[in-house]
This record gives sequence, C-alpha cells and structure tokens, in this order.
Amino acid sequence: MNSRLRALPVALAPVHHETIGSYLNRLADANHLSIGHLSFLIGPGRRHRRDDNRVGHWSPADLPRLATLTGRSIPALLHAMPALTAVQETGVHRVTLAVEEASEPRRRPACRLCMAHRGIHGLVVRSTGAHEGVCHRHRLWLLGGNQHELSGLPEITSTNRRHRRLVRRHKSPFIAMDYLHARKITALWFREADPSPLHQCWNRRLDTLPEDPYGDPHRPDEDRIELATYPETAVLTSLFASSHRRGHHDLRAEAARRLAVATQDLPTGLTDNQLTHPLANWKTRAMAEQLTKWSVTDGTVIHHMHYGLRVQIPSGEIGVVDRVDIDDNYVNPADWPAIGSVITVVGAGYAGPQLRLSSRPSHLDEARARMAADHDSTTQAETGKFGPYSGVRSS
Ligand SMILES: [Zn+2]
Repeated sequence: MNSRLRALPVALAPVHHETIGSYLNRLADANHLSIGHLSFLIGPGRRHRRDDNRVGHWSPADLPRLATLTGRSIPALLHAMPALTAVQETGVHRVTLAVEEASEPRRRPACRLCMAHRGIHGLVVRSTGAHEGVCHRHRLWLLGGNQHELSGLPEITSTNRRHRRLVRRHKSPFIAMDYLHARKITALWFREADPSPLHQCWNRRLDTLPEDPYGDPHRPDEDRIELATYPETAVLTSLFASSHRRGHHDLRAEAARRLAVATQDLPTGLTDNQLTHPLANWKTRAMAEQLTKWSVTDGTVIHHMHYGLRVQIPSGEIGVVDRVDIDDNYVNPADWPAIGSVITVVGAGYAGPQLRLSSRPSHLDEARARMAADHDSTTQAETGKFGPYSGVRSS
C-alpha cells in the first residue's frame, strides 16, 4: 500500500497539541473522505472521534503512511501530536503512571479566534493542561464548552499567568493533580448551603457571564463554576503544591490566610480534616506505594528491550523503565543508558507482577521533594496505613 500512497490534495498541518482524532477528522473533511476511509488508508482499523487522542490499533507502519498522506515529516507530526510517540515501535504497551492517568490533559476546542486568525475552519480539539485554559491574545476562557469573554474578569487572566508560572516550577503531572483536588474543593465550597464571603466573588463573576440559554439560572453548570472559582482554585493548588514540600500543620488556617478571609469565614461544613483528606487520598492512590515505599534508588541497566530498559535495583528485583519514561524528552534507542551503567530510578508501581520504574528527571525531582516533605511533616505521615496500590494498569 505504501508505494501507491500519495499526499492528499489538501494536506493540512496539525495544530500544536491537536488530538489525533481532531487532526484526522479535519483531514478527512478537507479531502471529502469519510473518517473510516482515511483511517483505512493510514492503517489503524478504527474510526477516530474528534476528541480521541489514543493510539490503540495503531502500528509503527502507520506513521510513515500518515507522513506520506500529509506531506509532513514524522518528527513534525510527533512534535504536534505527542500522543503518537507511543506507536513508534511494535508491542509497546506503555503503562501509564497513575498520576498521569488521573491528571490526563483535557481535550477541548482550541481558541476559536486563534483558529479563525490562522484561516482554520471547523472544529480543532486540543489536548492541553488546565493551566492552558486562557487565550491571552483574545482573552477567552477555554476550559469549558463555551469560550467566555474575559475582559470583565481581569482576575481570571492574571490568575492564569500565576497558574502557568506555578506549573513551570512544579512539573507535571503532580501539579495537575494538585489542581484537580483544589478544583474539587472549591466546587464543594461553591455548593455549601451557607454562603461564605467567597460566594460574593463567585456570584459577581458569574454575573459577568452571558446568560446560559439552556441552563438553570440558579444552578450554574460545572464549567461556569470552574471559571468563577478559578482564582481560589489556583490559590489552593499553590498551597497544596507547597504543603508537599513544607508540610503546613494547619492547612485550613493557611488556606484562609492565602484566600484573605478569616478562618471562620471559610465555607462551613469543611473541617481541616476534610480539607486535607483529598491530599491523603491522593497520596494513597498515586504516591504511597510507588514513591514512598520504593522511593528513589539506583539501578543497573541489564537489558535493552524494544519497550524500554530492564533495570536491576539493589534488592535484586528487576524492573522495567518504559521507553517513554527514560527521560522527559524522547530518547533515541541508540542513546539509551548503556548496559551495565547505573541510573537513578523511582518506583512507579506494579503492572501485575512487573515492577515499573521511571528515570524521568521530572519524576525524580518531584519524588525527592515529596519524600522530603513526608519526612518533615507530621500531619501527613500516615502512609503506612495505605492499602495495596491498584492505580497502575495496562492501557
Ligand atoms: Zn485566541
């Protein structure tokens, strides 16, 4: 099939971090093909929805065909759509770290004004982190289904600048988890029956948004609540990120201080225990087994496999560093750490009986920082009670 394959008449470029499904659907639309037929030409035997960013059913031979059809180089395609890196070799069964799975980037429409400016028509879906939820050029909110205008809400754009800086300092996917938990808490606070001073801010922000023609005026939808509470969510995100390092003993008082409200004015019905509980839960699911129990250790590279490195740790156990967890950036197999060399790894859970490891510098940094916090902190030192780790699974 490859020899007869030629570039499509309309060979669109992917938008940066566009989902695979969005790109294929746009290519199909522009060339008047069905998505099923385009998928057949490329190889993967399945239709892609626009928000689909998975590579199940893709094989390594499909990438060159996509490159031929689009007239783009494979590195350019991988750069725009990093999810495609997982199809580069056969038999790769990447086991996603639990934290990555829980904090998977959200898939949502790209800024409609940016796309129009670039002459791109039709829906473009991108896979982006929560901190990329504001288009600063057009002052649009991108996290929800409606791209709300933010010129009446300067605190949202300034919060987003702080949020971006926070993410640059703390590395994903951990800071994304902190955001998810903070969002859960502000959403709970929002629904408290007893209005707090924070509700005045939230209602004022909601009042600047255009009326939702289909929504209940007294019960804003999740997207609107996320927007209205975003500054407070970002404050809590930052607090949680720093509490891992510094171990605040009274998280509730610290939250009140940072939100500039009296502690007793924080939404009632939420105790310090409830505020910290999601953190403890987060550590249970994502961190306790993989990073606290096994922690950071040195291991000897004993094999290069097509899927990554086999590494023996001091206990004698042999773990696997998936090829995408060798470094934060793509590493050519020729440049993998040599057999016999000693590398620093962090435990990442078990897939069945198989120990998974990571040597990504960002994972090591974060593991070390959080372990240091565990040693300092007395408020969150209950890691010994955590049950078996079950967050890792094959995908
Ligand atoms: Zn824009």
